[in-house]
Parts: sequence; C-alpha cells; structure tokens
Amino acid sequence: MLRVAINVPLSREFDYLPPAGGDLPVPGSRVLVQFGPRRQVGVVLSHATSSDVPADKLRRCLGVLDDEPVLGDEELRLVRFTSDYYHHPIGEVVAAALPALLRQGKALYPIVETVSVTDIGEDADIESLARRAPKQAGLLETLLDAGGTGLEADALTEMLPNWRRAARALFDKGVIQRVELRSADFDETLAPEATPGPSLNEDQQLAVASLRRSDAFGAFLIEGVTGSGKTEVYLQRMQDIIEQGKQVLVLVPEIGLTPQLVARLRKRLGIEPALLHSALTDIERLSAWRAARSGAARLVVGTRSAIFTPLANPGLIIVDEEHDQSFKQQEGLRYSARDLAIVRAKHLDIPVVLGTATPTLEMLQHCREGNYEHLRLPARAGGARPPAIRLIDTVRSPVTDGLSEPLAVAIDSHLKADGQVLIFLNRRGFAPTLICSACGYVAECPRCDSRLTVHARESQLRCHHCGYARPLDTSCGECGADVKPLGEGTERLEDALRSRFPGRKVTRIDSDSTTRKGAMHAALDQAKQGEAEILVGTQMLSKGHHFPKLSLVGIVNADQGLFGTDFRSAERMAQSIVQVAGRAGRETRAGEVLIQTGFPEHPFWSTLIAGGYEQIALDALAEREQTRWPPFTRLALIRSAAHRRDDALGFLDAARDSLAARCGDALRVLGPVDAPMARRAGRYRAQLLLQASDRRALHAVLRELRPELEQAPTARKVRWSIDVDPIELF
Ligand code: ADP
Ligand code: ZN
Repeated sequence: MLRVAINVPLSREFDYLPPAGGDLPVPGSRVLVQFGPRRQVGVVLSHATSSDVPADKLRRCLGVLDDEPVLGDEELRLVRFTSDYYHHPIGEVVAAALPALLRQGKALYPIVETVSVTDIGEDADIESLARRAPKQAGLLETLLDAGGTGLEADALTEMLPNWRRAARALFDKGVIQRVELRSADFDETLAPEATPGPSLNEDQQLAVASLRRSDAFGAFLIEGVTGSGKTEVYLQRMQDIIEQGKQVLVLVPEIGLTPQLVARLRKRLGIEPALLHSALTDIERLSAWRAARSGAARLVVGTRSAIFTPLANPGLIIVDEEHDQSFKQQEGLRYSARDLAIVRAKHLDIPVVLGTATPTLEMLQHCREGNYEHLRLPARAGGARPPAIRLIDTVRSPVTDGLSEPLAVAIDSHLKADGQVLIFLNRRGFAPTLICSACGYVAECPRCDSRLTVHARESQLRCHHCGYARPLDTSCGECGADVKPLGEGTERLEDALRSRFPGRKVTRIDSDSTTRKGAMHAALDQAKQGEAEILVGTQMLSKGHHFPKLSLVGIVNADQGLFGTDFRSAERMAQSIVQVAGRAGRETRAGEVLIQTGFPEHPFWSTLIAGGYEQIALDALAEREQTRWPPFTRLALIRSAAHRRDDALGFLDAARDSLAARCGDALRVLGPVDAPMARRAGRYRAQLLLQASDRRALHAVLRELRPELEQAPTARKVRWSIDVDPIELF
C-alpha cells in the first residue's frame, strides 16, 4: 500500500495500491493516480501495510513516473515539518516543493524541443532575406547568434514571442531544423577562475573564526551595518565548505538576487551558481533544481521557495537580509523561508548563517536566549564612514510636491560636488488621492475600502490593492467642480526634481517604471555607473544595491510608520530607514541622510539618531515583553473572505466557539473582527487572532481545528486560511 500526497486542499494522505507488476515505487517518487474524476500526479510519502479504505474501494495507481525519487528522505522530512507547523495540507506543500514541470508530471530529464540552424542556413544570405521577410531574418539571426545546438523553444518564445510563424517557412526551406534533445545539463565550470578578496579586518576575522568552529548545526546572526563586509564573511565560510566538496544554499530576498551579487559570487568562488528565482522559464528552473539535487551545482542561490530544493551534499545555508519580508510567503502556503532554513539546517546538522544590518526582533531574542550566536560587524569595511543623519522639520520648512527647501539645497550642493542623490518615497504613482476642490469628494475603489491612486503618466486612477483602473477624472463625479491630486508619489516627486534641477539626469525606479522586461536592470546599471544624477524611487532602490557615487539620501515622507497600528511599525520603519540610509557613502565619499518629518520631537528620532537600529530594537523588545507581543508570545491568524460580510464573520464565529470549548488559559482568542481593509476586490474580509505564550499549546489546538474547518458547512462560502507566525496583522 502507498500513502500518497495529492495536490488538493485537504489535510490528509491518500492510500493507493501499487501498480500491478514492477517494483514498489520508493517514497519521494511520483505516481499517476485517479482522483475522483481526474488524473493527478501524486508523490509517495511512505509504504503502509493496512488502510482505513475498504479493500474493494482501494484503487491502483495508474503508473509510476519516476525510477528514482525526486524528493529524498531529508526533503520529505522538511515537507512534513512544513505541513505540520503551518497546518497546511501536505499535498499542497509537496506541490510547492516541486518545480512546475515535475508537478505536471513531466520527466525529471524532459526531452525538449530545440531549434538550430542547418548547414544551408549557415550560408543563407541574411541581407536579401531581411528585405523580403524581416521576421524570418530576425529569427535566423537570433539562432545564428546562439550558435552550437541552437535554442530551446521556451527560450525562443521569451525572446521572439511569435517565432513559430516565421519558423514555418524556414523549416520548409531547410534553413533551420527542429531537434528533440534531453534538456541541457548544468555546467559549474562556466565561471571565470576564482579571484581572492580583500584581506579581512579584525571584526570580520573574528566572525569567520566563530563560523569555522564547527561544521555541525549552529545558527549565527551576523549583524553588520551596510557595507561592513558581511558578504566577505559569508564568502570565506562558503569557500571552506565548497572546498570540502559540499554544497552551499544561499537564500536572498526577492529583489536581492541582482546580477551584481551573482557576478560577485561567481568571480570570488570561481564556480557558476545554480539560480532559482521567479524570472526563470520552467525548463530553466527544472535544470537548476536538478543540478542542486544531483550535486552538479555546489553553489545554489535562490529566493524563498529555493529552501525546498533537494541538495545532494549540503554543508551550509546562508540567509542574506534575514529581516526582509519577502522570505515570508503571504498567500497559499504561508511559510517563512528563513525559519525553515533554520529547521532544515538542524535536520541536516549543518550551520546556518543569517545576515542583516537590521535584525528582526525574533532573531535578536533568540540570540539573547543563547539559541543563536550573535556576531557583530560594527564598522564599515575598507574605511568608508557611516552617513550622518539629520532631520528636516516640515512644519517649519513646508514641502512643495514633496520637496522641502533644505532638502532641495542639499541636493544642489551634493550634485555640485559631483555626488549622486537618492530620494526615497515608498509610494508610487503621482498622488495617493484625487479630491474635489469644491465638495470634498474623494475617488475611491468600487471594489475595496481604499482610495484610488493618481497615475499621471497613463492618465489613470488605479487601485493598488485589487488592480482596478479607470481613466483619470477631469472633473468631480459628484458636483462637476475641478479635481486635484492630493499628496505625492514618486511620479510627482520626479516632476518636481526635474523642474527644480533642469539639465540634471533624473531616473525614477519603482514597479511602474520597470515593468518592461530588462528595464529594471537598465535603469540600475545607469544608476550604478553614476549616469543618473538623481534617483527617485521606492523600496526597490533600498535593497542590496551598491551605488558608488551616491552621497546623499533624502527620505521624503518618513511619518507613515510613526503612528502605525501594527506592533511591528517601529521595527519596520527603522529597518526601512536604516537600509535606505545605508546606500549613502559606500566608498570614499562621506554620506549624508536627510529625513523630512512633521514630528521631529517624536522619541523614535532621537533614539534612532543617538542609538541607531540597535537601540530602537532594544527598546522595542522591552516594550513587546511588557505588552506580550512576539517574540514573547506566539501568534496565528485565521482569515476569511466572502461576498457577504456575515459569511466571513460567521465562519470565524464557529471557529472561535470551537476553540473556546477546547482551550484553557494557555490561549487567547481575539475576534473575530473586520480586517483593517474590510472590503478588498469585492470580498469582505475578517480575521481571528490566536495568541499563546506556549508554542505547543497553539499548535495542539490548530491541529484539531484545521480538519474541522475543512469540513465546516460554511467553508464553501468563504475563502479561508491559517497563517502561523503572521507578519502582517493589520
Ligand atoms: P555588506 O555585505 O555588509 O554590505 P560587503 O561585503 O558587500 O558588505 O562589503 C562592502 C564593500 O566593502 C565591498 O565593496 C567589499 O568589497 C568591501 N570590503 C569588504 N571587506 C573589506 C575589507 N576587509 N577590506 C577592504 N574592503 C572590504
Ligand atoms: Zn480596489
């Protein structure tokens, strides 16, 4: 009998008989099964001798898809842990752990369609072809450029979406050919030879020595200001492990996997990393995944979901920018890749290194309790000095289009000294609100409890929560008077900077300006070369980038987090400010950071300026201990959404009643209440918060509650989820 995980939202495994004849498929291999009316790909979790399913109902698998397991024992253990800890159906966890092609039942080494140029094509007269059939010539040229075995069809589709049309005639003429090939294997030797790094300073040497004490499990938090040389410390330890023939897995934030980082790893270690991120084609992803699994890649670098990648011979896990929120998946399987990295390292008995300039309070508390080792790099490497932070009081120096006079003066003087300037505003669009100047009407989203953002470039009003968009109003829909944009986003700031500094090159970088493929890299490249003199942008600019000429950072609207309702507001705001401030003065130039605030007397600022992130974190930890918020308690959030508010709340009422009957003092249940944005994309949303001082108590009740919720008659009307260790409460 086989216990099989199937990708359905039910917290159970399914029993099947093995196919008649042949070997029993080992745990971790895929099988094809009939599930209700459909055929599904399942993964064998274990073998069993008996089943609760009556013998005459028990079905046979339709077939075995693998002759070797795609997930090993260790990966299955991680999958089980994830399913138990996040109270999420195991079939969906297994699905999340597999690349899309394997999930769909494709072979581990799929045969892929490849297109290449024939001998006839090599001699073709491209110029005359270009006059008659430019599309055909374009395709031929692309394939000639690729050389050798040509290009995989998927890759071609990426480059030339309609290539198949042009290809038809070329196939007929025998100019190009189609070959079915086993998809290419990963080649680690593509990288240039390793080059040595700088010699480490004393703090770095101490950190490396601590990391080298043992090859067994240990969790290390490297807290080092931006530019303190954390990456050099990882690199030393990575080198040791790789020289032992073992593999290193590096997890980076979603937008932290920059070509810059990859180039640096490649150059320093002299080996090609296998990359796993969202911009890959399915076939590329499978190829990198396979290289990690077989051990062909000793260095594996990826975003969140890479934590599930099988590794033949793992020796070290690194989580860069540990504080980054993209490590937590916010939908479906709501897991934290950072937390799973620690669990996985423990299972494997290997070290795990977390690095950041702004550690989360959870990690700091682990260090204080002695669970993790805290390593500090307090100074910038290579002699760069930390930036000086100054506040601009926007009550005394009011802003126009987001810009105060003192900030404008500082920009001017940095530009004149040949410095580069970064202006940070975490709000895209032209203005967050469109208001009527006569009646006060505000443009709102018809599907959400939120205002529409003015996007001037496209003359649109857009909802940033559900994607709703309509043409920009020219007059008030209520009274016909003039409307005007209120407040500022990055577009407006860009305009203001252009008109204030004519002739200077201003570049805006946010998710609107970089939707075109490659636009982001192009803009960042320009920025790094120092061509863009003024950069305006959101969060996107604050992470991991190194702009050598940058000497001034201006933070335009810093007050959003000062009075936030989430208990993490202060922590988040300090992280975001310190991260963006860290972009200033990374090399020999002294950096300056100017922060515009309407509340310069707020204690947050004096703490940040005098004590830095460290003091903010210490104060916040003391406060959390008093108020009993994480990391001093454990949370889980049950969310529901429905077309009718009563359904959303009713589902959670039932959950609360069931919890009340079950749990004692160990658990506090708060709610249900409306979610902070009660209506979103046409659905009403509600939430129920569970708080426990003891993790076990929380998990014990969730384990019983989950199947109940799955069976609840009201569950059909709602979308619901359990979020363990939520990072977004409000
Ligand atoms: P972090 O990862 O903490 O931001 P990096 O490792 O990227 O810091 O180092 C920042 C810069 O300082 C890089 O250009 C790096 O090459 C340089 N650097 C790091 N360590 C040293 C050192 N010991 N001596 C000289 N330069 C160093
Ligand atoms: Zn909306």
